[in-house]
Amino acid sequence: KPASELSTEFANKHITPGIGRVASDLIIERGKGSWVWTTDGRKWLDFTSGIGVTCLGHAHPAITAAVTAQLEKIVHSQVNIAHSEAYVRLVERLLPLMPDPSLDTFFFTNSGSEAVENAVKVAKNYNNRRGIVVMQGSYHGRTYATSAMTTSKTVYSAGFGTSIAGIYPTPFPYASQLHMPADTSTEDLTKLALSHLSLLFKQQIPAHEVSCIVVEPVLGEGGYVPAPAEFLKALRDVCDKEGILLVFDEVQCGFGRTGKMFYSEYSGVVPDIQIMAKGIAGGMPLSAIVAKNEFMKNQKPGSMGGTYSGNALACAASAAIMDVFEQEKILDNVNARSAQLFETLHALRDGEETKHLIKDVRGKGLMVGLEFEPFVEPITASSIISGSASGAIKPGAGPSSAPQHGTAEKKRVKDIGSRVAKKCLEKGMLILTTSVFDV
Ligand code: PMP
Repeated sequence: KPASELSTEFANKHITPGIGRVASDLIIERGKGSWVWTTDGRKWLDFTSGIGVTCLGHAHPAITAAVTAQLEKIVHSQVNIAHSEAYVRLVERLLPLMPDPSLDTFFFTNSGSEAVENAVKVAKNYNNRRGIVVMQGSYHGRTYATSAMTTSKTVYSAGFGTSIAGIYPTPFPYASQLHMPADTSTEDLTKLALSHLSLLFKQQIPAHEVSCIVVEPVLGEGGYVPAPAEFLKALRDVCDKEGILLVFDEVQCGFGRTGKMFYSEYSGVVPDIQIMAKGIAGGMPLSAIVAKNEFMKNQKPGSMGGTYSGNALACAASAAIMDVFEQEKILDNVNARSAQLFETLHALRDGEETKHLIKDVRGKGLMVGLEFEPFVEPITASSIISGSASGAIKPGAGPSSAPQHGTAEKKRVKDIGSRVAKKCLEKGMLILTTSVFDV
């Protein structure tokens, strides 16, 4: 049967509705570079990168070659039987790329969620404490434990509630979430977030019972908010003082996404455990934790593993990606493209016709988000849907129709973010929304 005959009605009927998706009327067939093609023959500019995964674009020849060569050598070299060549080679390749030489002991898994689970296991095994502190707005996965650590949206635990005990969310220094104006200084946001953390230690769990603090250095699913350096430094100090392990979830912000290999490099703060996935293997299922050896060394042999853990194809893809990062100076490209993107988005933020819609433009490198104003006053909702929203994300272009002023009534304009994403889709661009603020 040709791909064009595959039916979305069939897919929607027989694939769980629990998978939310940007478009349920499309079936993606293939990709190349920044583009994907759907079975109906249409071509799309892929700004989703498979949710921050395809760091070298789709079908990069170096990845294809590495996976093909590995496929011919050995596909499944199970790591609880003997060391796997591809695994050992990848550790050799990744070690010098880590943000600090102290992060030297690796474990590979298949998904970001699994890596998060393992980071928590390692931390708890090290200090035998019950509590896990996470940030409000965090996303750490959809497995049983990680969905309890995820606080970005209630949908991630819909129907089953908080699955495990001992998880304590604390505010991230994010203005909207703290009900502060968008221009609040990072210093003030940091102070506010830290005061909540010290309150948590007094009201809910004493610091000496906390095993680890798990933080996304750039809050991803919760709103694309880079953590201020002073916040990460303060967390490091708290952890050092209280014997808590600091865990950075770089699943989304790692591997060049922010213009450095890892976002923590901007602050110089070194975590005790770093979690990685997504860009690590460009779409092959691979994730990892790397820890300072003192925290990993007491893991009992057999306590870690998994049938497909660190599978050879994914490891080969990852090593090839690291070569391309160097050969093609990928980080330089991220920073150059980032400057272009910010220039356009800042022009929209400051532009007469769009500034009333845009609350904040933020991010680092190519991990960039746009937050829309929750209240647009005194502009009518209809003018936003028909005109400005589409202009707000089309680089270099103004809105197709100017907003109509003159409505005295204060209007709650909801869902601007998702309307913008829908408009992008209509124009042939795949884009994602995050957070609960105006989406
Ligand atoms: N942590 C972060 C920061 C993520 O963004 C994600 C995925 N969006 C995960 C963990 C979970 O990764 P996975 O979907 O591969 O389980």
